[in-house]
Amino acid sequence: MKILVINCGSSSLKYQLIDMDGEKELAKGLCDRVGIDGKIKASTADGRKVKFDVDMPDHTAAFYEVKKLITEGDLKVIDSLDEIAAIGHRVVQGGALFKESVLVDEKVKEGIASLNDLAPLHNPAHIQGINAAQEVFGKDKPEVAVFDNAFHSTMPPKAYIYPFPYEYYEKYQVRKYGAHGTSHRYVSTRLNEINPDYKKVIVCHLGNGSSITAIKDGKVIDTSMGLTPLDGFIMGSRCGAVDPSAVTYIMEKENMTPAECSTMMNKKSGFLGVSGVSSDMRDVEIAAADGNERAQLALDIFYYQVPKIIAGYIVALQGLDALVFTAGISENGANVRQGICDQLEFMGIKIDREKNDGLRGKETQLNTPDSKADIWLIPTNEELMIARDTKRIVESLGK
Ligand code: AMP
Repeated sequence: MKILVINCGSSSLKYQLIDMDGEKELAKGLCDRVGIDGKIKASTADGRKVKFDVDMPDHTAAFYEVKKLITEGDLKVIDSLDEIAAIGHRVVQGGALFKESVLVDEKVKEGIASLNDLAPLHNPAHIQGINAAQEVFGKDKPEVAVFDNAFHSTMPPKAYIYPFPYEYYEKYQVRKYGAHGTSHRYVSTRLNEINPDYKKVIVCHLGNGSSITAIKDGKVIDTSMGLTPLDGFIMGSRCGAVDPSAVTYIMEKENMTPAECSTMMNKKSGFLGVSGVSSDMRDVEIAAADGNERAQLALDIFYYQVPKIIAGYIVALQGLDALVFTAGISENGANVRQGICDQLEFMGIKIDREKNDGLRGKETQLNTPDSKADIWLIPTNEELMIARDTKRIVESLGK
């Protein structure tokens, strides 16, 4: 069974075609700058690649490009769209409405649209993507929505309620929802396959956006992202948690609108904001090594905040069986894993320097034999998780 996984942003469409017999990726690509000056980058698992500019006025046009890419020309991997059994869509905000992945119908679309206010950049784009897919693939092709925060829906109210006047929760559903849930679920599912005895687990998804999640008996009890992916700790260009009064103070001083302030906190802060160098941690590391003090400060903040969150979650879990690293920064950065674990060593959580050094993107157990908790690197695969959910739901339709 072949599944097409789709991630639509407001001006982009990312796709991955996965053959579920063997869970093999066949092709992937990005249709970027949809509605602007269309740019496509695509590749196949066997190494064929293309990069070109093409006008894509909307998501429907982008889907026609995807159709062409996978069924015709140099990157052809299937003969016709009939070979695709279903489409799985990543949906950022499922609010409290969607606690698991669902087959898309009109009611589900209405539900996703009803959460637009909570994810104004994402949910409307997902609906556009779902409608466009229906237009190109036909109404009979099953579509499944996989929600980025569904895995976090097991959090207890003490973890997700913000101590504002309660009416704002009731009126606007303002609360912690978390993000990266599909990644955290993939990693914790894999960890459970490795060793079902791990009951108290912390997953560090450290990438361009970063979040840390505490998982007890397979269920999330807390996560560092909040109402939006801005919460938590220093990220590429996001500030993470700060004193809320600092936000209103800056808004007043700089005469900023809420939208301008949101852009500042999401796009101009974090590694980029503190270092003034880049949102990419590798650039910041190079600058710091060259003696750039603000770049060093950005790294110092990261290595201070991340272990503090891990330590807080060890308290929330009342112990720790396994600490897991995943996503770009911590799959590739051996020094990053080392730097974080160095701060945890006094608690008896010990990384094996030799196993860790130079290791990139390969599932590996990293702790020393005498460590009080196990440490793992498990590469994430959100697309595969979406494809698995889609397959499961589609198969259940025939029963
Ligand atoms: P992701 O969001 O998971 O795709 O992660 C992408 C981010 O990983 C990039 O923005 C880089 O900052 C980061 N990254 C990749 N390789 C390394 C590395 N070796 N050390 C530190 N950060 C890295």
